[in-house]
Amino acid sequence: MVLQTKDVIAAYALDNALSHDGKAMPESVLNALFSEGLEKVEISEIMPYMNEVLKKVNSMKPEEQLSEFKRLEDRIHKRDTRKDGELPELPEAQANNVVMRIAPFPSGPLHIGNSRSVILNSEYVKKYGGRFILFFDDTIGSELKQIEPSSYKLIEEGINWLGIKPKEIYYKSDRNKIYYAYAEELIKKGYMYVCSCSQEEFGKIKDQKLDCPCRYLPAEISFRKWREMFQKTTPSGKYVVRLKTSMQDPDPAFRDRVMFKISDRLHPRTRNKFRVYPSMEFSWTIDDYLIGTTHVLRGIEHQMSTRIQDYVRGIFGWKNPISVYNGLLQIEGVKISKSKGAKEVRSGEYIGWNDPRLWSLQSLQDRGIKAETIKEFILKLGLSKSNSIVPLDVLYSLNRKRLEDVPRYFFIEEPTRIKVRGTPELKTRIPLHPLKSIGFKEYITGQEFYIQKSDYDLIVNGTYRLMHLLNFKSFQMNPALPKDFSFISQEMNKKLDLPMMHWLPAFQENIPIKIFMENGNIVEGIGEPALKKLKEGDEIQFERFGFVKLHAKNKDYFEFWFTHR
Ligand SMILES: [Zn+2]
Repeated sequence: MVLQTKDVIAAYALDNALSHDGKAMPESVLNALFSEGLEKVEISEIMPYMNEVLKKVNSMKPEEQLSEFKRLEDRIHKRDTRKDGELPELPEAQANNVVMRIAPFPSGPLHIGNSRSVILNSEYVKKYGGRFILFFDDTIGSELKQIEPSSYKLIEEGINWLGIKPKEIYYKSDRNKIYYAYAEELIKKGYMYVCSCSQEEFGKIKDQKLDCPCRYLPAEISFRKWREMFQKTTPSGKYVVRLKTSMQDPDPAFRDRVMFKISDRLHPRTRNKFRVYPSMEFSWTIDDYLIGTTHVLRGIEHQMSTRIQDYVRGIFGWKNPISVYNGLLQIEGVKISKSKGAKEVRSGEYIGWNDPRLWSLQSLQDRGIKAETIKEFILKLGLSKSNSIVPLDVLYSLNRKRLEDVPRYFFIEEPTRIKVRGTPELKTRIPLHPLKSIGFKEYITGQEFYIQKSDYDLIVNGTYRLMHLLNFKSFQMNPALPKDFSFISQEMNKKLDLPMMHWLPAFQENIPIKIFMENGNIVEGIGEPALKKLKEGDEIQFERFGFVKLHAKNKDYFEFWFTHR
């Protein structure tokens, strides 16, 4: 079903070129065509033509591209004119009747990437009215993709933290008997069969587009073998249940897919109560029908899975939910692997599921990223059919706006003690915020201070300023001799524009501080005694360092987690 006329391809290519400095990217145009219904198997067919079109479009001047696009604009779905954070309409959505679900596989907590599906689905249900469902996709997993028992709770916790309350919660692992009932109907009617070929044998048959001999066994025999699958005496690799699609289908992935398999792995919730498990496609077909799913947001990469589900629904005569495709969201510099994370959490290399390196919602919360920021970030990116890579700073700058008013303190990394000769005893009150009146911190200072080693190292002969306190002169006869510092004056002179550094009085009871960074490193230093007033969970800014959140007030040191610059 190639719907793509030449004009449609050209229109998308022009659209893409106009928003990317005049150059259309083949991947973007392809993604747009997928959203128009292009199937993967059709790619090779349209590729030569698409390349020709791209070549032509990319050689056009911007004015030509624009006028040509205006001519063809109505051939494609309207250009996006929505404001940031406004979601496009869902096709065929009826008021108060939209049912959408999120389907996390419980291998760890939700991370920033998964939060997108949670937020978009729940926002859509909020927009139209209906039911938002949390459906744990926990059939059995695989050796590579294992269920992590603690993640059920962590996932719910993350969703709730985002301010979202699912109306209903289901677990696939509770529903095996439901799937069996539908499976038996299809086996008895000959739509599915039990296959005893080894994976290798079946692979060979599949590649040759031949039918597997098991396909022709009478339904009663298939059904008897299906019963055998439940007996412990049947080895786990002996049988699988296959959907009778077509072994000649152009896409090998569609050919008689496995719908049920045996697994004797211990399930964290149901232990060894079951050993026959449905495939993701089979279970979703049944569940979406039973819960009444109206719309499914899917990644482009799941098109095959949709095709299989549609096929099974066709057999039962059920209506297909509407698939809305969504490109992949990547955040620049953020690498997330849940299964890798699990290993590091178990081995103790990571401090727990809230370790910042996991980018879990728990870790973002502990770092001081606000739930509202994440929501705003996801909605700002919206729903896009093409894959997008977003700089991390987009998230950080949204969060920074929410932390603007927090108090500011001094933190000295690698403190270096200096003496500023001639400094009188000074009583200073420094506002906790330059613009907001949220209080002061007070010091009585002498002649000795701590400054950061990196600042100390940069000091050459000249004049400098200790922030909010005094101006001093630095002199060093030669590098072999110590630097000599002497007091000049107190007043800040904007005209002089002296290099500034933050400091702490050396005679005060400063607090040892450890800051846990987003990459797992720990930065150590000292902070001012005024920090004692803070409570765990408070967010502050360390001048010239960045925003941090107080994680723990330990006896020997305070532990902060780094938010961002
Ligand atoms: Zn077979």
